[in-house]
Amino acid sequence: MSKPRVAFFSFSSCEGCQLVVLTLEEQLLELVTLIDIASFREAMSEKSDDYDIAFVEGSITRTSEIERLRTIRERAKIVIALGACATIGGINCLKNQFEMEEVQNIVYGKMAEKFDTIPTRPIEAVIKVDHWIHGCPIDKDEFIEVTKALLLDKKPRIPAHPVCVECQMRENVCLFEKGMVCLGPVTRAGCKAICPTYNDGCVGCRGLIEDPNLSSHKNLLNEHGLTVDEAISQYMLFGGNSKEKYE
Ligand code: SF4
Ligand code: SF4
Ligand code: SF4
Repeated sequence: MSKPRVAFFSFSSCEGCQLVVLTLEEQLLELVTLIDIASFREAMSEKSDDYDIAFVEGSITRTSEIERLRTIRERAKIVIALGACATIGGINCLKNQFEMEEVQNIVYGKMAEKFDTIPTRPIEAVIKVDHWIHGCPIDKDEFIEVTKALLLDKKPRIPAHPVCVECQMRENVCLFEKGMVCLGPVTRAGCKAICPTYNDGCVGCRGLIEDPNLSSHKNLLNEHGLTVDEAISQYMLFGGNSKEKYE
C-alpha cells in the first residue's frame, strides 16, 4: 500500500509552527516511515505538486496568496490549518485595526504602491478546511495526535473545553486572584495551560471555545476590579479577525 503524501505550506507567518514539527526529532523519524513528504520548504529543497494531505501554516494577507491557497485545496484530499495564523488569523490580524493604506505606508514607505495588502483572514475564509491544529505555536503532542488520527482514517479530536480545565489540573493559583487578566475561561484548551503556568495570562491564541460563556467571563473581570476593555485588548492580540465574537 502506498504511503500518504504529505506537504507543508507557509503563507504569512513566522514559520514557527513548521519549526515545531521539525523539532519532533525521534517522533519525526518514526513519522517519515509512515508518510512520504512531498514538500516541506523549511526542511528540504525537493518539492512536488502530488500530495494527499496539506498542512497549511500562515494567514492570508495579500490577494496573491488567495489563488495559491485555492490551488493547494484543489490538489489535496485533506487540508489542515496549522497554527493560530492559519486557524484564526492570529497575530497578523493586528493590522486589521488600521486602514490598509496606512499599513502599506508604514511598512513599505515609498515602495507602498508596489505591495498589495488586504485585511488578514484565516485560511478558512478562503477555502474549506478539514481539520485545525490550534496555537501559537502548535503543541507537538497535538500535532502527533492529529497526524496519527489522519493516518488511521479517524477524525482528530480537538479539545472543546477551556484552558481553565488544564490550568486547574496543574493546580495553578488562578491569575485573577493576583489581579491579572486571563482569557483562559473562554479559550480552547490543548496547550496544557502553559501561559498561566508561567504566570502569564492566556491571550487566546487557540481561539474561543464553541459557545463561550462571555457574560460569566465579564462578571469575573468585574469581580476582580478588571475591565472588559483590558480583556478585549488581550483578545485583539490574536483574535482581531473576530473581534465581534468577544464583544
Ligand atoms: S501561529 Fe505563531 S508560531 Fe505559528 S506561524 Fe503563526 S506566528 Fe508563527
Ligand atoms: S489562571 Fe486563567 S486559565 Fe488558569 S484558572 Fe485562572 S482564569 Fe483559568
Ligand atoms: S494559555 Fe492561552 S495564550 Fe497561552 S498557549 Fe494556551 S491558549 Fe495560547
